[in-house]
Amino acid sequence: MKISIVIPAYNEEENLPEVAARVKEHLGTRYERELIFVDDGSRDDTQRVLRELRAQDPEIHYVLLSRNFGHQSALRAGIDYATGDCIISLDADLQHPPYLIPVLLGHWLAGFDIVYTQRREDKKLPWFKRRASAAFYGLMNKLSSVDFEPGTADYRLIDRRVADVVRSSPDVELFLRGFIHWVGFRQKRVEYTPEPRFRGTTKYTLRKMVKLALSGITSFSVRPLHFATLAGAAVSSLAFLYGFYALYILIFTNRAVPGWASVLISVLFIGGIQLLVLGIMGEYLGRLFVQSKQRPPYLVRETDADLVPPRSMP
Ligand code: UDP
Ligand code: MG
Repeated sequence: MKISIVIPAYNEEENLPEVAARVKEHLGTRYERELIFVDDGSRDDTQRVLRELRAQDPEIHYVLLSRNFGHQSALRAGIDYATGDCIISLDADLQHPPYLIPVLLGHWLAGFDIVYTQRREDKKLPWFKRRASAAFYGLMNKLSSVDFEPGTADYRLIDRRVADVVRSSPDVELFLRGFIHWVGFRQKRVEYTPEPRFRGTTKYTLRKMVKLALSGITSFSVRPLHFATLAGAAVSSLAFLYGFYALYILIFTNRAVPGWASVLISVLFIGGIQLLVLGIMGEYLGRLFVQSKQRPPYLVRETDADLVPPRSMP
């Protein structure tokens, strides 16, 4: 049996030797193993470090992407190249503790196809990150039909069968966390307490977080569009009622509804709703546009000599 480990790395030069050593230590020597590092267009010495690691250890492989494609695409590249019977993905910064690997493998051997991890609420994590993460999952659950559990990041084990489903999915921007829930199969959750980052700083800028959130919401739900419809309906009925009221006053009394403020408020209100709705539609249209171009989710610049290019799917 062969176990693949996929580790996306963006400017993680200081963490790579440590993560490689720790992962191998916990993986043990019982199985055939491969560690695939995906360099997501790093600007530091990640590439050189990977070449060095590779030179010392034939179980280590690297895939260098042509630029920064983002965490999710880097993960996907790793899954595409992995040849193991199961694939474990984890972050390069050791926040995902490698000592869980035997636990994940144990559940897999017991017959689960997906073993995903959930981090316990942890006071050590930056306040903003915790709030942002909680808000994100809250919103996702309100907005979509897939049940997202808070704190489930991309530390998980997937069986070969699931990896093949991921590989054959045509999404240009695949939101793995949602997709993995969506595919079903037999899933098992494992809880853990996150470690602090080993070295360096977070590579998830606010911009990347917002992008991830939008991609998650728009790819797993059309509820925002329903919301747009409902908001439109609600505002039109209000305007309708108000119109009737104004007519009623005009016809049946000797007054008229005075109003400057009311006109202004309703124009601004309706204008705001219209922009919001256009924005929501634009998000979906944009995704359709990106998808329709059928560009690959990532481009590979180079791999080590022994890594076989992924066979194309049937
Ligand atoms: N990462 C990546 N591409 C990016 C951003 C991040 O491959 O554009 C990798 C990063 O190297 C790390 C993982 O994704 O292995 C998670 O990133 P990070 O630890 O910075 O996120 P955080 O734990 O702060 O949410
Ligand atoms: Mg991290």
